[in-house]
Amino acid sequence: MQAITFDDVLLVPAYNHYESRRHVDVSVKDRGGKLSLGLPVMTANMDSVTESAMANFIGEKGGIGVLHRFMSIERNIEEFKKCRTQVFVSVGCSDKDIERAVALRDAGANYFCVDVAHAHAKYVGRTLKQLRDVLPDACIMGGNVATYAGADYLASCGADIIKVGIGGGSVCSTRIKTGFGIPMITSIQECVRVDRSIVADGGIRTPGDIVKALAFGADFVMLGGMFAGTSPTPGTVITKSDGRQVKAYRGMASREAQEDYMGVMADWKTAEGVQTEVPYREDEEAIISDIVGGLRSGLTYGGSSTIRELQRKLNYVTVTQAGRIESLPHKTLEPRT
Ligand code: 5GP
Repeated sequence: MQAITFDDVLLVPAYNHYESRRHVDVSVKDRGGKLSLGLPVMTANMDSVTESAMANFIGEKGGIGVLHRFMSIERNIEEFKKCRTQVFVSVGCSDKDIERAVALRDAGANYFCVDVAHAHAKYVGRTLKQLRDVLPDACIMGGNVATYAGADYLASCGADIIKVGIGGGSVCSTRIKTGFGIPMITSIQECVRVDRSIVADGGIRTPGDIVKALAFGADFVMLGGMFAGTSPTPGTVITKSDGRQVKAYRGMASREAQEDYMGVMADWKTAEGVQTEVPYREDEEAIISDIVGGLRSGLTYGGSSTIRELQRKLNYVTVTQAGRIESLPHKTLEPRT
């Protein structure tokens, strides 16, 4: 079977009967009615992307931050309390994580993310069931999976929202290290068959990728690399010898992250992520405007006034390498011969 990702497809324009892209509605609710967002954007629960500053930034724009969990329970509660906007908190699958979830629940948290690299796993199902017992009414997001069977398993164990994507992230090396993964558009097509909302997570680089992920059936997107290096991300700004200012962006399964949180990377493991330096930037407002503008325009190209209508009207083509080249700005000053 051939699997496809963002650059393999383009959406086919449809008749637009709406007067202006200003009138389209980019808000979305999850299928169970527990999460309502003005903008279907989540920021990734990575230690170089989301703590309270990013959660407050994206929350004010109508999206939602997902706080990472690589901190003590006490600090996690402090970070949670610094958010006034709605926010997700993250938990892993150890006994300590149930303790973390209960402490965060008692501090007022209502949105929980159970996040492991390969969530179609017995121990993840067990954790979801335990969480459901202690958080009967909370919104629980589980991931990551890339197949219908994986999504269905998480749903059957109590997940309200399924996080979809294996190996597509911009600082991820799972596919290189293990040979496993499914390109993102096919992952979305697979997982959208389950009766839950899904989040497309990993590999999204442009507003156009966001429109494609939503059109193919994702209810939300999760972004890491698109916000990497911006001022609301955690971490210090480093000035290089040539004057360039950079910040670290890293996979949570990178050697550096594992050494920071576990002291040492166990010798029976290999890193499945990388650490990189990205330019420090203060243009997070411009990134959001670009996303919102692209989404509004995308909806009108799709003849739609809502994301649900865009999904109903999905029509796409797969493109050749020549088509991909044509899609990029390509004006040249050289005359054609
Ligand atoms: P990005 O938006 O940068 O393309 O992808 C962000 C996503 O990459 C995260 O939300 C998470 O699902 C995934 N991710 C983060 N760290 C790692 C890692 O170390 N290894 C893998 N395989 N995926 C990661």
